[in-house]
Amino acid sequence: MSRAMQIIIAPEECKGCGRCVVNCPRQVFALGRTLNGRGNVTAEVVNPESCIGCRFCYYSCPEPGAITLIEKVDEEKVS
Ligand code: SF4
Ligand code: SF4
Repeated sequence: MSRAMQIIIAPEECKGCGRCVVNCPRQVFALGRTLNGRGNVTAEVVNPESCIGCRFCYYSCPEPGAITLIEKVDEEKVS
């Protein structure tokens, strides 16, 4: 069994601080090249398959609602 997250960023809530980029141990995020309605560069999910579900990104983000994590559980057959 492996655990990972579906990772959703709400661009209008993100202020582009980069904390998720720095704190993710698996380089899941990068800052993008487009601005949101508040004039902020926003984080993007660029490497979702590497997520290990640690939630460091969620707890380091200062903007409520900017990052949503939905746990996925993939069953693997054990012989
Ligand atoms: S849960 Fe952990 S590994 Fe997954 S995106 Fe967030 S910080 Fe990165
Ligand atoms: S930590 Fe939150 S506010 Fe900062 S760049 Fe990441 S998603 Fe945006």
